[in-house]
Amino acid sequence: MDIILFGPPGAGKGTQGALLADHFGLQRLSTGDLLRDAVRQATPLGLEARRFMDVGELVPDQVILGLVREYLGGEGGAGVIFDGFPRTDAQDRALDWAHAEIGRRIDAVLVLDVSDESIVQRMAGRRSCPACGAVYNVHFEPPGIAGRCDRCGSELVSRVDDEEATVRRRLAVYQAQTAPVIDYYRLAGTRLEHVPGDQPVEQVQKALIERLSTASAPTQ
Ligand code: ADP
Ligand code: ADP
Ligand code: ZN
Repeated sequence: MDIILFGPPGAGKGTQGALLADHFGLQRLSTGDLLRDAVRQATPLGLEARRFMDVGELVPDQVILGLVREYLGGEGGAGVIFDGFPRTDAQDRALDWAHAEIGRRIDAVLVLDVSDESIVQRMAGRRSCPACGAVYNVHFEPPGIAGRCDRCGSELVSRVDDEEATVRRRLAVYQAQTAPVIDYYRLAGTRLEHVPGDQPVEQVQKALIERLSTASAPTQ
């Protein structure tokens, strides 16, 4: 079962993707996390990507597709949850081609709908673990000890691109370049499920699991 977790920045894709991956035994592929690893390691790809990430623009398709191809070549297993990919029309097509080559397909696209104002509020409170990638929120999902990762004890950080002006730019980029990806899957006849994301984490998770459990049932 390969699925796409779709939605604007801050919709809860990372949070829900990690929970769903555990629940269904799937791998999670977050292009944002892969890019941030490359930035931290200061690889040539990371240095190139950072210029776009810091100002809230999309990283060029060629860079993203290189990363994803590498990943798809070696992984797959029971299935993959794509988080933050595809984000452009070139990326959705490229994923279809790569999938065709390895005999897989996207079984469902789950769209988390969240209002812009909640997003700006969430991003201001987001804290991430640079070591293990866990995500927290000082208002809504605080760690047990302030500023420390529950899972690995590392010091939590704020992302530079979560500053309000950059978040608003990312929302505009989402509307212009990423939202049309939904139409691509609608036209392809892929199963699309909209889930209200403006509710507590546990309720969103319950709704996603319910939708996915039906999505994986055999169709008549
Ligand atoms: P969020 O979880 O807030 O939506 P991500 O961690 O997915 O943010 O992405 C952070 C940044 O990394 C994006 O603003 C963009 O610059 C870059 N990025 C991540 N995934 C992609 C992608 N598939 N295509 C282009 N740029 C991407
Ligand atoms: P995305 O990957 O879509 O950018 P995240 O999962 O990183 O989103 O969530 C963005 C921020 O909002 C994080 O600080 C996270 O802890 C918080 N968050 C996620 N889901 C919810 C929710 N349902 N209610 C309130 N805050 C949430
Ligand atoms: Zn951690």
